[in-house]
Amino acid sequence: MGRQPGHDILGRVNGPEIHVEFAPGLLLFVPRARPTGALRTTTDGVSTLGHVVESLGVPLTEVGTLLVDGREVPAGHVPAAGESVTVRPYAHPQRVPGAPLRFLLDVHLGTLARRLRLLGVDTAYESTDIGDPALAARSAAERRVMLSRDRGLLRRRELWAGAFVYSTQPEEQLRYVLERFDPELRPWTRCTACNGLLREAVKEEVADQLRSGTHRTYDVFAQCSDCGRAYWKGAHHEQLVAIVERAVASRSERD
Ligand SMILES: [Zn+2]
Repeated sequence: MGRQPGHDILGRVNGPEIHVEFAPGLLLFVPRARPTGALRTTTDGVSTLGHVVESLGVPLTEVGTLLVDGREVPAGHVPAAGESVTVRPYAHPQRVPGAPLRFLLDVHLGTLARRLRLLGVDTAYESTDIGDPALAARSAAERRVMLSRDRGLLRRRELWAGAFVYSTQPEEQLRYVLERFDPELRPWTRCTACNGLLREAVKEEVADQLRSGTHRTYDVFAQCSDCGRAYWKGAHHEQLVAIVERAVASRSERD
């Protein structure tokens, strides 16, 4: 190894040149590496490998393992000339240490938020755009995994943890989040509107929210202990049951 730093056309010293290879799943973040899966880049000799990889376009929330010449290194490793770096995604399921698994979703992921809540996964969601700093601060304060399609947001240092949501389709988004994090599922226990916990309710308690047809037809109700919203097996129920059954089935396949 021991390649010396080169000089650019103005005689300035360049930092060490390294070779960086990306796992196929990460290439969407690094268009210029797509043809071969790898690129050469010159670093400044002081930046960490984590910073270098992020500068190349990959949010660190997506980087599971960094290898240098086949040996695992921390993101704080400072690359030296001639090193060959391999960037790998997280193995699934990804374990998030230190807190019960819970999520925070940005303003664009409302459908995904409601589906995660339907499955009983603790999911905070901002239905208005409160801005990246506020989202990142909430992720840190409540120890929630930030889910977003916004790479800038996922680069924020304050995040407790984060993950890029690759698809724009709620169905695929849900499948991906369940596969990547494997959260415990407790269907029909959370309010899809506010994430509050549901409790059983008798008809009289929720009567003011029911149209007369509903009042006559249904006897089993639940009510959100936070916002008071009433739930019953109404018009969309079969569709919701299908979502729950698919999620539960795919989880038992993984076990
Ligand atoms: Zn609620």
